[in-house]
Amino acid sequence: MAEHESLEFGKADFVLLDNVSLEEFMANLKLRFEKGRIYTYIGEVVVSVNPYRAMNIYGRDTIEQYKGRELYERPPHLFAIADAAYKAMKRRNKDTCIVISGESGAGKTEASKYIMQYIAAITNPSQRAEVERVKNMLLKSNCVLEAFGNAKTNRNDNSSRFGKYMDINFDFKGDPIGGHINNYLLEKSRVIFQQEGERSFHSFYQLVKGAPDAQLRSLHIQRDPTAYTYIKVGGQIKIVFSILQSSINDSADFKAVTDAMKVIGFTTEEIQTVYKILATILHLGNLKFGSDGDVTLIENSKLVSVLGDLLSTKDENVEKALLYRTVATGRDVIDKQHTHQEASYGRDALAKAIYERLFCWIVGRINDIIEVKNYDARVHGKNTVIGVLDIYGFEIFQNNSFEQFCINYCNEKLQQLFIQLVLKQEQEEYEREGIPWKHIDYFNNQIIVDLVEQQHKGIFAVLDEACMNVGKVTDEMFLQALNGKLAKHAHYTSRKLSPTDKNLEFDRDFRIRHYAGNVAYSVVGFIDKNKDTLFQDFKRLLYNSSNPVLKAMWPEGKLSITEVTKRPLTAATLFKNSMISLVENLARKEPYYVRCIKPNDVKSPLLFEHERCKHQVEYLGLLENVRVRRAGFANRQLYPRFLQRYKMISEFTWPNHDLPSDKEAVKRLLQGCGFEHDVAYGKTKVFIRTPRTIFSLEEQRAEMV
Ligand code: ADP
Ligand code: MG
Repeated sequence: MAEHESLEFGKADFVLLDNVSLEEFMANLKLRFEKGRIYTYIGEVVVSVNPYRAMNIYGRDTIEQYKGRELYERPPHLFAIADAAYKAMKRRNKDTCIVISGESGAGKTEASKYIMQYIAAITNPSQRAEVERVKNMLLKSNCVLEAFGNAKTNRNDNSSRFGKYMDINFDFKGDPIGGHINNYLLEKSRVIFQQEGERSFHSFYQLVKGAPDAQLRSLHIQRDPTAYTYIKVGGQIKIVFSILQSSINDSADFKAVTDAMKVIGFTTEEIQTVYKILATILHLGNLKFGSDGDVTLIENSKLVSVLGDLLSTKDENVEKALLYRTVATGRDVIDKQHTHQEASYGRDALAKAIYERLFCWIVGRINDIIEVKNYDARVHGKNTVIGVLDIYGFEIFQNNSFEQFCINYCNEKLQQLFIQLVLKQEQEEYEREGIPWKHIDYFNNQIIVDLVEQQHKGIFAVLDEACMNVGKVTDEMFLQALNGKLAKHAHYTSRKLSPTDKNLEFDRDFRIRHYAGNVAYSVVGFIDKNKDTLFQDFKRLLYNSSNPVLKAMWPEGKLSITEVTKRPLTAATLFKNSMISLVENLARKEPYYVRCIKPNDVKSPLLFEHERCKHQVEYLGLLENVRVRRAGFANRQLYPRFLQRYKMISEFTWPNHDLPSDKEAVKRLLQGCGFEHDVAYGKTKVFIRTPRTIFSLEEQRAEMV
């Protein structure tokens, strides 16, 4: 039980609830939120509720309070988890990871930043310059990634539209010496379209609002975001300030991001190219196609030369790539003109692809710079790692598409990992300590993971098969194939299979019963998004640019049309593979969890919407987590630590004991209090089953001190 916390703030650890029921859980969560206690434990898991206001709990003094302490010595905090992960890494030479989950706007990204700040603050006491440099890079990289990967959505003004896993490498002294970032599935559809009230990626507005006049002129950009079709669709250019919360300042951010790129080590040419690419996308969005008889043409042809200039290539090459595609028919190679519709499709695909490529390139550049080089394990000892995962939470929108499907699959994978690791860890500890243990039931979502990723029968497999077909396969045909293959699956249904189900509104939908709830996905766009086609002509265009930075981003443009034979992997397969390797990577590490809860949809610091929170508690499996933790033992402590805390309540142990071991002394103490039945003695730790025993010990202790 956490010190310095009185019960007026509720229970600092949910395992201490008198009864494990949803009602009690919710009452405790709400009470703590209202008292400004946004963190609560379930054993070693931190449950966090987004406060939606600045909290005075992240400063230097707080960091000092957590540094090197044990989890239970201080009120629950992210810093305690960060410290635990750090200690495990340092003392036991273990790679650890901190997995942060929760839905959009629940506070994951903020949590990941506080964790990084904490780690930066407690390391490198000797102020080695090289380590300081690395820390600075790691922190600065966030700023750049957020500019290019985050956007205002209706749920979060600064929503991460990509998944991020960051490894921080430490040397034998426990100081950071480098890092590596993996990014997952950027929501690139946002480049060309946003829902009402939303924006495109911050980077575009930062450029238009913040770049100096001369720079804008050289990019042929006006200082007016509404002049650009792609970034004004959502209609929300300016971010409205929400209560007490400073929001986004595009023009100041432009400067900060440019500076951050410089500090990280991007060259001037690279930074210029980054902005040229953003400008290219803005201009592409304004391109209008028209037709003259059978001929497709570009109406505002002035833009073609602007694009030629920005992409460092000939205008006629730009025009040709936009209006024609080269196709190989047998031995012949011909130029086939796009229809009006194909040309628009191609333009949008190009805009999305170059943004995505830019983003991946930025991550790659950051990695080049922050990756550990010249580390010799024979000299320096093992190089250990702390990973921090901040990845999109479960999403249920009004209209759910391929992106939500991937994101929710990702959450199924992570939930599966959570189940395995939290239970596994618990069981392993009992085994290690020689304590008998009985298995506890929980919903195992492996069945849903299989539904999505299984070979041949899984939804991704069916989708890929549909995309392999040479003929024109429609989204509807894909849905039929799903219905055929999955009719009997308990977690899959569709209008066709359940015609009377009122919750299935549309013929085009299929529905998955996720561990977190039912989600209906519209099949519209699945085939297209999965194929993710970008005409080879565009790749060649970019590869042939005389701008070396741009050229290097598009190596596959080297291939001529007759050389392109291999079908690229589909978006679903790429995503699946990246998820599988992410999970394998996490599973090799000792995990720490932060489960974030979003208290309301209006960003209010005051509102705890009961139903909304309850739903999150349910699907995050928090109650099961408490049960698992309690079915075993609510509390465990190393013998010496236990004695240190409670020795004053027994004559056998106060002020010192003369028994052969601390274990014997703890036994004696607990026998004396009449708690024999409620405890088990492991090799190094005493395990206490019910929280009441701890309470009682605490009370007795309070009487003595
Ligand atoms: P997520 O990454 O889960 O989508 P964010 O971490 O971006 O959510 O948080 C959304 C917003 O909520 C932040 O921009 C911030 O305004 C607020 N917020 C989140 N966590 C905290 C916190 N610990 N203290 C204060 N405000 C927070
Ligand atoms: Mg985020």
